[in-house]
Amino acid sequence: MIAIIEIKDLRVSFHAYFGEVQAVRGVNLKLGDGDTLAIVGESGCGKSVTALSIMRIHNMDATEFKSGEILFDGTDLLKISEKEMQNIRGNRIGMIFQDPMTALNPSMTVGNQIAEVLLRHGRSAGGKRLSPKDARERATELLRRVKIPSPERRASQFPHEFSGGMLQRAVIAMAMACSPEVLIADEPTTALDVTVQAQILDLLKEMQREKRASLIIITHDLGVVANIAKSAAVMYGGLVVEAGTIGDIFYRSSHPYTRGLLDSISRESGRKNEPLKSIEGTPPDLVNPPAGCPFTDRCEYAMRVCKDRLPPESALSETHLCRCWMLDPECPLKIERGKL
Ligand code: SF4
Repeated sequence: MIAIIEIKDLRVSFHAYFGEVQAVRGVNLKLGDGDTLAIVGESGCGKSVTALSIMRIHNMDATEFKSGEILFDGTDLLKISEKEMQNIRGNRIGMIFQDPMTALNPSMTVGNQIAEVLLRHGRSAGGKRLSPKDARERATELLRRVKIPSPERRASQFPHEFSGGMLQRAVIAMAMACSPEVLIADEPTTALDVTVQAQILDLLKEMQREKRASLIIITHDLGVVANIAKSAAVMYGGLVVEAGTIGDIFYRSSHPYTRGLLDSISRESGRKNEPLKSIEGTPPDLVNPPAGCPFTDRCEYAMRVCKDRLPPESALSETHLCRCWMLDPECPLKIERGKL
């Protein structure tokens, strides 16, 4: 797989008044060129921090990149200057946030906000900077492409005049304005009702295909993962505990946490008459993260070694990785892929 983004041993901490939150504790991830990778997990597991690190848009006064690399097309994004990053942000890597209102300026028309992005980064077919008139026309065309009705009229309206779904479409238009190579969508459908969610996911897929972009989608919702992603990384306690293709995660999952997530969603077939289960307990405190497996306190298979030592990443196939002591050759408990 040719990776457009490769994250190696990323460690990120936040300094809060109550101590250092070790939000990301050694994450390795790859996004294949043209691929869709879902980063899945409960809130506080480090999924958003990992993805936002690619854009370097945390509160930088409180954030410390402890170690690691984020390679984008061969360049380490953690090593370049803020000025170089500004040329990449919004231009080569686009971002869609959970709450579209946070991405939009409430006192500017939607059309002008998209045109502003185009004026900053966009180019005409001849490679020249766009004129304000061309940028404005292209902004209206983008609103049409994301299926906003009456785009000429809508371009002159302010964000508060749009519905939630329509706003998220406008944000997608803005993120796609410069045809970025990578698009990061942080819980893009969480704030929307179910029917609008499906439309937004379809739109994301369509825009990704059209612009040939690679997509990282951050979500807690395995339904979203199944709908849109080709591969997924399940995060827990600041670590990737399992990663693989959608088939690996949904049909051959080997980590007890992934199994717990799957058991907590309804299935259309197979086990549909079984009651849904929840994962008892709470995630670990990342101010004092456990020395061993972060899932120990919630895991029905936990052994003594789980509490004391962090399990290494085991490769179950070329595409499938899992961090669990049960996969260690010395472990007395043996699991088969997908058969916990
Ligand atoms: Fe459970 Fe131990 Fe595996 Fe962690 S390492 S998931 S505690 S069996």
